[in-house]
Amino acid sequence: MSSKYVYDFGGSSTDGGADMKNLLGGKGANMAEMSNLGIPVPPGFTITTEVCTHFMNNDDGYPDGLEKQVAASIARLEKEFGATFGDHDNPLLVSVRSGSRVSMPGMMDTVLNLGLNDSTVEGLISRTENPRFAYDSYRRFIQMYGNVVMGVHSELFEEKLGEARERAGVQVDNELSPKDLEALIEDYKAIVAKHADQPFPEDVKDQLYGSVAAVFHSWNSPRAISYRKMHSYPADWGTAVNVQTMVFGNMGDDCATGVAFTRDPSTGDKRFFGEYLVNAQGEDVVAGIRTPLPVDGAEGSLEHVMPEAYQELVKVYHRLEKHYRDMQDIEFTIQNGKLWMLQTRSGKRTGRAAVRIAVDMVHEGLIDEKTAMMRVEPEQLEQLLHPMVDPSVSATSIAHGLPASPGAASGHIVFSVEQALERTSKGEDVVLVRTETSPEDIDGMKVARAILTARGGMTSHAAVVARGMGKCCVAGCSELRIDYEAGTVTANGKTYHAGDEITVNGTSGHVFEGVLPTVKPTLDDYFRRFMEWADAARVLKVRTNADTPEDAENARAFGAEGIGLCRTEHMFFGEDRIDVVRQMILAEDTEERKEALAKILPMQRDDFVGVFGAMDGFPVTVRLLDPPLHEFLPSEPEDIDALAARLGEDRAELAAEIAALHESNPMLGHRGCRLGISYPEIYETQVRAIMEAACIVQRDGVEVMPEIMVPLVGIRGELAHLREKIVRVADEVLKEQGSRLDYLVGTMIEVPRAAIAAGRIAEYSDFFSFGTNDLTQLTFGFSRDDAQKFIETYIELGVMARDPFDTLDDLGVAELVRTAAEKGRATRPDIKLGICGEHGGDPESVRICHGIGLDYVSCSPFRVPIARLAAAQAALER
Ligand code: PEP
Ligand code: MG
Repeated sequence: MSSKYVYDFGGSSTDGGADMKNLLGGKGANMAEMSNLGIPVPPGFTITTEVCTHFMNNDDGYPDGLEKQVAASIARLEKEFGATFGDHDNPLLVSVRSGSRVSMPGMMDTVLNLGLNDSTVEGLISRTENPRFAYDSYRRFIQMYGNVVMGVHSELFEEKLGEARERAGVQVDNELSPKDLEALIEDYKAIVAKHADQPFPEDVKDQLYGSVAAVFHSWNSPRAISYRKMHSYPADWGTAVNVQTMVFGNMGDDCATGVAFTRDPSTGDKRFFGEYLVNAQGEDVVAGIRTPLPVDGAEGSLEHVMPEAYQELVKVYHRLEKHYRDMQDIEFTIQNGKLWMLQTRSGKRTGRAAVRIAVDMVHEGLIDEKTAMMRVEPEQLEQLLHPMVDPSVSATSIAHGLPASPGAASGHIVFSVEQALERTSKGEDVVLVRTETSPEDIDGMKVARAILTARGGMTSHAAVVARGMGKCCVAGCSELRIDYEAGTVTANGKTYHAGDEITVNGTSGHVFEGVLPTVKPTLDDYFRRFMEWADAARVLKVRTNADTPEDAENARAFGAEGIGLCRTEHMFFGEDRIDVVRQMILAEDTEERKEALAKILPMQRDDFVGVFGAMDGFPVTVRLLDPPLHEFLPSEPEDIDALAARLGEDRAELAAEIAALHESNPMLGHRGCRLGISYPEIYETQVRAIMEAACIVQRDGVEVMPEIMVPLVGIRGELAHLREKIVRVADEVLKEQGSRLDYLVGTMIEVPRAAIAAGRIAEYSDFFSFGTNDLTQLTFGFSRDDAQKFIETYIELGVMARDPFDTLDDLGVAELVRTAAEKGRATRPDIKLGICGEHGGDPESVRICHGIGLDYVSCSPFRVPIARLAAAQAALER
């Protein structure tokens, strides 16, 4: 630990810089960086993260010399600002904020106006000649300090504030008179004394150190600890403390506060984009309580109201963007016409904006292609693929608000998290409608298809969170009247109830009654350019899991390079064919089964013709039938009756046959290759259909590359047995058709034994495709269908970091994949290796697959672009 504990920033002296995040935290480092750039930041100082670590390791004790360094830095602020900390006539006021190297929930929020007490408030009154402002600042300080430092519930203060409003007969806080506020201050102090068991500290030094200790203690709040565990951040990082001179946006009409983005965070357009409020304090803008005005443009904008401060702000944002080479999210305050910057950081943006900004910045020479690719989260790309309201449909909107997050979605109206969870658990789509949202609403926002708020701007909680989630959102829809108690929302003179359906268009800001049709988005040039870079950078190929020609075509449009998994059982489910399949299953002997299969053959052949056609020039892995047979049979008595009538069978006999097929553990039962071995006609028919289709499309000029895949193999003998049959039928078909084409025969690796015995299994396998859904199920012994219940508990308790069905388990399941890949290659150096479980579309899992050295990943069509970018990032990281 060095002996320098305090780093100054702003005004005449700055010690730190952007590269010192570990020591100064993100906020402190960026403050220092801005002042190094000559950007006006209120002067302050940062107490380092090392002091936090010392504090925690030494029973809340500070290192020797800290107080002296803090005193020196306070003296500097006093000199710069011409005010004195704790002085009756001209008091210096400061804010105190936490700031670790990454932002983290659970850390202490801001304490503003520190330095006020019964004596200094008088000085503030005479300096500002504004007693209302001074008393209001003081009562806010007692409330914040009482809450975050002394642990007194906010509601107690809010209650008193409500009583004061009632007594005074006013609606809003800023109508309270100085006298009212003075009385309120006494009430607040009484609340503190009663609930914190000690008086509110009048001594400004006590106030300062009380706040510093509260920041350090918040490093070990339960929420911060669990967040660190989840992200594997070490506890000894610690947090820094930032102490900064107060500037006020609420001192009158030449004051303001605002938030801005250096480019449009929704579309990525290159334009300054911000919102502000005149005569307001920092949190008022983001809290969404008053709807803010735009920074630039029309009447009422900052550009019109305070042109000088606006021009200065424009200069600053250009400077910051050029310096950080990224879109910035900035906070500013204007005090008596003078601009102060309070924060700069990389701005959150939608997927569309992320791509657009990355591509534009490459063209502007700000960043290179590699940086551009690393700037976009793969998951964000999904937003670009989301549906839009069908433009050919004319519908009259019932309300219009801000287009806070793009896309379109319909659902049943819900007004609370509880309603959202209840309806979605029944499989309904919901739209969360709130006056404004807060962190308590997160669980409801997560499950909702869209979010609609009556208040708040583009930077309100609802807007920012929805964009982060890639969820469509309309915010600040001021014509909505929401009555939570009655469970209604009124728009355009009509009242809607919970459960009524609406459509939200987050791209235009319009809200519609009922469910409107949507259309697939068109992928623009920015997207295409960006994906070209990604394709050039990646090593892994990306295929898709598709069972129909439509899915296959969709996936081709998203850039799929073949099909990694065509689940043939999905082709059996259609209304027109399910009875033939049932006939096959219920056949009394091989003859009868062959009869049914003869009817299935042409249907399957047509399916494959379509799929091969859509994948012209790319490989298609067709998996032979996998699921347990009883899945195709009805279970409800009335359905059994109907089937018996259709097949002309005796009802009781049919019911008995169905019962006989029942298994206690169908997932571990008679499925996959086990079925194929028991009933060889099934796979023989499927192989015939595949190969006949291949010959047909080949004659039409399609370049076809079939890969026939056997599911659920665990034993070499299973594959040896089936391979012999598959090759025999396939070659037979080629001979009959007089065709020549290459085909492969391989296996899925989805049983742990197959991974361990992969060296021997490879003797009969041209390729391995890792079925990590079953492999995860069987490795953990967690049911794929029921494990969610306890996995959630495990994650909450920190027993497990994440759901292994979402992200490949690197230490267990992926280890089996690694083993199998090595053993497979040892036996057959040119063996093709891919993954077709759900993990193939998860960015973290794609990274692991790249590390293992697989040839490809395969995922659902909509995740293909995500996998392409994740594969590029994995290659670039290495
Ligand atoms: C798998 O198990 O990972 C797989 C792709 O097969 P299915 O999901 O059809 O069982
Ligand atoms: Mg499987």
